[in-house]
Amino acid sequence: MKSDVEIAMEATLKPISQVAEALGIQPEEYDPYGRDKAKLSLSLLDRIADRPDGKLVLVTAINPTPAGEGKTTTNIGLSMALNRLGKKAITTIREPSLGPVFGIKGGAAGGGYAQVLPMDDLNLQFTGDMEAIGAANNLLCALLDNSLHQGNPLGIDSQRVELRRVLDMNDRALRNIVIGLGKRSDGVPRESGFDITVACEVMAILCLTAGMDDLKARLARIVTSYNGDFDAVTAEQLEATGAMALLLKDAIKPNLVQTIDNTPAIVHGGPFANIAHGCNSVLATRMALKLGDYTITEAGFGADLGAEKFFDIVCPSAGFQPDGSVLVATVRALKYNGGQGVKELGTEDLDALGRGMANLERHVENLRSYGVPVLVAINRFPADTEAELALVRERCTAMGVRVVDSEVFAKGADGGIELANAVVEMCEHPTQPARFQPLYRPEQGLRASIERVAREIYRADSVHFTSLAESQLARLTKAGFGGLPVCIAKTQYSFSDDPHLLGAPTGFEITVRELSVRAGAGFVVAFTGNIMTMPGLPRHPAAAGMDIEADGTIIGLS
Ligand code: ADP
Ligand code: MG
Repeated sequence: MKSDVEIAMEATLKPISQVAEALGIQPEEYDPYGRDKAKLSLSLLDRIADRPDGKLVLVTAINPTPAGEGKTTTNIGLSMALNRLGKKAITTIREPSLGPVFGIKGGAAGGGYAQVLPMDDLNLQFTGDMEAIGAANNLLCALLDNSLHQGNPLGIDSQRVELRRVLDMNDRALRNIVIGLGKRSDGVPRESGFDITVACEVMAILCLTAGMDDLKARLARIVTSYNGDFDAVTAEQLEATGAMALLLKDAIKPNLVQTIDNTPAIVHGGPFANIAHGCNSVLATRMALKLGDYTITEAGFGADLGAEKFFDIVCPSAGFQPDGSVLVATVRALKYNGGQGVKELGTEDLDALGRGMANLERHVENLRSYGVPVLVAINRFPADTEAELALVRERCTAMGVRVVDSEVFAKGADGGIELANAVVEMCEHPTQPARFQPLYRPEQGLRASIERVAREIYRADSVHFTSLAESQLARLTKAGFGGLPVCIAKTQYSFSDDPHLLGAPTGFEITVRELSVRAGAGFVVAFTGNIMTMPGLPRHPAAAGMDIEADGTIIGLS
């Protein structure tokens, strides 16, 4: 089979104006960025605000292998197939981060014959949103360190600065650094470090905001640091809000592009699904809901992280009512969950597969507990055997969940017709209508919310708060943040906080080591395990296989 970039280069794209027109977007409501991309103005949303919403379908997954299991690919292929069935479907996905592109996972524009294009732009600098978000965050950092240097009028305790600079790169050498070294005029020395851009609060804010006024209100609330009395010092106190919003004036506009078969795609924002909520922007999803019959969106990592956050953070805040969910599973990841080694995943192993199915079953139960109908899509890989596929179908049928094959990677829309039909049936003729409700009520307090998620979604026996976490819990509650929803930062490989406990582990405890408020985004992050906010590169980075030739031919981007 051809490589992703080869397939991408053969596609015939429509001028983006045609894609916009087909959606009924008026010429003054978008700014073309070159020939194939456009920024959608927020005035569009104002004009169509009163329209009824189309159907909202979340694509999520079982716990993945390190390579990713095909949520984005399935999302894109599903919307292409829905269009083939005559439904106006729109894909909404996150913008890729350069860290994974050059690291292990590769790009995030789908794969094979289910891609969003231009995949090279998308996976590289796209329309500059990531840069603008980084710049806004780093401006706030610069203002904070300048305030420390200029006599520290806000009394910031330099040991209690929460904010870190960001860069869209996997660069472990920047995790822990000392800044302000040198002469007196070179600033106040303190320990700090960089995070990857997609981990910063500005990214989460951009993805949850309802518009420019709300963006400013959220930016103003960012807790940057604390003073000697442990009072929060906000971005507003640093007089950063206006300039940060200014830097984000274009980044706030969702990006319109198209898939390989000209299905519209709105690609906007890209928060991590551990430290942040892992979904494309609310603005993008809202536009798609008003413009199309079906909006297919995606949440990062497995359903324990991404779907939980979509349902418990994004939907309540945005007022979304999901109509259904697609749980993507691969035979490979099921076997990985059943204990098969990464290098052996191409070999048939029915025992490992059978054990790994427990992971899928738990995710299905969890999704159902939100009152959202679910169906399983098996994202087919060439090495899957008939016996393995039969076993997956049998176990799904036994628990009463519909299961369909998806071959969108190899066949594009043609490979997703069965999936699209199943999704239409789930949304338009459900056996049990969707009755979405979030898992917990945040007003019950941070501890109760964390325990609910840990017990009911992860299936932990108990939650242990370290003494640091206990004191932060008390402090954040006292400061008025106790009623915010929780964003649990946890490994994507396991239901537990230990990446080695695969499948459907039981009898474990979740340890919350630290809590930190994201007052602008509107959640409190609870850190479990060892979560990297600045990933590193692997021994053989994807970057090493990339090149561009004199005629513009791109090599190795996938
Ligand atoms: P996720 O969104 O779950 O992280 P992606 O859709 O980005 O996953 O897919 C991860 C990687 O696997 C991508 O490089 C993609 O091209 C590849 N991939 C996805 N589905 C298939 C498939 N059926 N066969 C081969 N490769 C696939
Ligand atoms: Mg993805």
